[in-house]
This record gives sequence, structure tokens and C-alpha cells, in this order.
Amino acid sequence: MGNKKPHILFLFSDTGGGHRSSTESIIEALHLEFGDSFTTEMVDFLKGGAPLPFNKMPDWYPEMVKAPYLWGLSFKISDGRLRARAITASMWPYIGKATKTLVKNHPADMIVAVHALATTAFLKVLSDGDIDERPHFITVVTDMVTSHALWFDTRADLSLVPTEMARQRALAYDMPPEKLRVVGQPLPERCAVPSGTKKELREKLGLPQDIFIALLVGGGDGMGPLKETAEAIANSGLYLGLVIIAGRNEKLKNELEAIDFGIPAFVYGFTKDMPDFMRAADVLITKAGPGTIAESLAAHLPLILFARLPGQEDGNVTYVEETETGVWAPNPEDVVRTLARWITHPPTREKVVQNCKKVAQPEASRNIARIIGERLGL
Ligand code: UDP
Repeated sequence: MGNKKPHILFLFSDTGGGHRSSTESIIEALHLEFGDSFTTEMVDFLKGGAPLPFNKMPDWYPEMVKAPYLWGLSFKISDGRLRARAITASMWPYIGKATKTLVKNHPADMIVAVHALATTAFLKVLSDGDIDERPHFITVVTDMVTSHALWFDTRADLSLVPTEMARQRALAYDMPPEKLRVVGQPLPERCAVPSGTKKELREKLGLPQDIFIALLVGGGDGMGPLKETAEAIANSGLYLGLVIIAGRNEKLKNELEAIDFGIPAFVYGFTKDMPDFMRAADVLITKAGPGTIAESLAAHLPLILFARLPGQEDGNVTYVEETETGVWAPNPEDVVRTLARWITHPPTREKVVQNCKKVAQPEASRNIARIIGERLGL
């Protein structure tokens, strides 16, 4: 593209908070590594150009995942290389034209797909030969272990995966080993480099200093049994502080604000300060979202997982259990039991903190940025 700065097109979608956060983290790391020697653009490919019903997916997502059994079933039915191909082929009449238009309207030197549905359709358009110069195509896989077959299309130039377990899965889907790199789960720089000590951050956030603090988060959309869990903790007789983040779920935020928990409790909507909240807390109680888990590990913060999306997030639970960085606690009573153990026997929590330190990959976004930079000659 002449003397122009290389242009990178990121394909993501606001189905959950994770794809947007991951994309923003990679762009941040690119600027930290390579200044302004390139330009970027983020396109919500499901919202922007896709036809019905796909353009409704970002709006439907919080509702769809409320039917976890159906979600899990559709994940399982569609998972598998041939089945994934067949699904894309059957959808082609609907999405082919929209995908082609999107690629034509957003010329780029590199496409980075940060969503499983942004792979095959785009690679098909690029392989059809209508595009003058085929851009590099990299996928950044953001499911830690149970990565769906749709992520892996052998026509991609490179597939960057978060864990060795995800690499094994990619190999099983016939991705050639030379196209795979284990880089970690992308994280904002603020997660990698803390902006203060625990004491300083509690002061900054207006949180009490001398009590155990549990942080409750349900992904970007405030999903999972946040309210029931907070109430069970408040009624357990344990003395601790609760910081509850309802994300974009306004209704839940209003409900939580109306409750008198009887213990110190702080309710917030969507916050940009998640890395600070994590460094200020003693435990994170959350659903098994990959972004949140990776951020928690980087903050050396033990995890209690109270919910997961069947299929897609099963592997995240396995990962946390196998690395002993947290526990799976699907009922509020399990959450309270784990909290009681960690509060009354601090060394048991400290051991989990050490495990988090061991497996954290704070360099992930920088790793991804360097690989992109190398490909584009930045
Ligand atoms: N998040 C945030 N502020 C909030 C709630 C969530 O910045 O108030 C971020 C969180 O730190 C994480 C992302 O949103 O980076 C959620 O991603 P995850 O993969 O955990 O779950 P998803 O929402 O995609 O299901």
C-alpha cells in the first residue's frame, strides 16, 4: 500500500465484554511497542454489516446465554471441523454478500479476527480472489481450553492461542503446528503493571483497609447468580466486605443498591477500573469468562467460579481447577464454604495466590503485538 502506514482491521463483536476488551488490549500493546507506525480499526462484524438475524446477536447475547442448556447444546452440535464448515456453507447465502461488502469497505494490510465467527466467512471471501491484495489473516483465540472448531480454519496465516490445552485442540482440528503459537490471553497493560499497592488502591477506590474483601463480577453484562450469591454471603455470619460489579446490567444494579446487606457493601455498574478493583480485593467470585479469569490470575487473585456458559466456558473451569488457582462453586453454599475456609485459614488462600502467580501471563498482549509487528514489518 505505497508509503502509507500499515492498516490493521480488527473483527470483534459485543457478544459479552470479552472480545472488545481483548481487542482493545492488543491495540494498546501495539501502540506501546510500535508507537504510531500503523493505523487500526475495530469493526463489530455482527452488528455493522451482517444481515438479520446475525446483526441482532450482540443484543440477544445476554438473553441467549440465560438459556444455558440450549446454549450448551448448540455449542456441542456445531463443534467439530466438518460440522463447523457445513454450518458456514449453509449460512453462506445470507452472510456471503455482507462479508464481501465489509471486506471491500475496510481495506487493510492485516485482518485480526478476535471472534470465532469472524474466521471462515472472511477467509472464504479472501480466498475467492476478488480482493486485489490478500491481507495477512491472524486469529486471536480467546477461549482458554474448549475452543470451538469455528476458530480454526487452516487458511488463516496464524492462530494465536491462550494455552497449551487450546493448542492441542487446534492440532486436533488439523491446524498445522507451524501456524500455532501459545501467547496467553490478551490483557490490558494496567493488569500487567499494577498502578499501586493493595493499600493505595483501596484508598483510591474508597474501600476499607482492614477487612477481607470479596469482589463479585458477572462478566461485562452482569450475568450469573450475583444477587443470590451476595445475599448468601451477607447472611452467612462471615464478616467481610463485598464489592459487587453489575456491569452493563442496570436492572441488577438498581436491585442490588436497594438491598441492605448488613456488611460493608459497594455496588457499581460498568467500571473501567477492573484491574484496580482486582488488586484491591482478596478473592474474585465470578463466572468463567476467559478475560476475567486471565485478569484475575495477573492480579494474583484467587477465583471462585459460580457460573459458566456450558460448552464454551467448560474448559475455563477445568483450567482453573487443574492449575489450582480457584474453585468451581456452582451453589451459593459452595461459595460461602470456600470463603469461610480462606478467611479462617489464610495459608490455604495464600497457596492459591502463589499458584495464580505461577500461571499468570501478563505479557500476553505484548506477545501478540510483537508477532503482528513482525508480520507487518513495523
Ligand atoms: N469488565 C469491565 N468492567 C466491568 C465488567 C467487566 O471492564 O464493569 C471487563 C472484564 O474486566 C473483562 C471483560 O469485561 O475484561 C469480560 O470478559 P469475559 O471474557 O470475562 O466475559 P464475557 O463478558 O465476554 O462473557
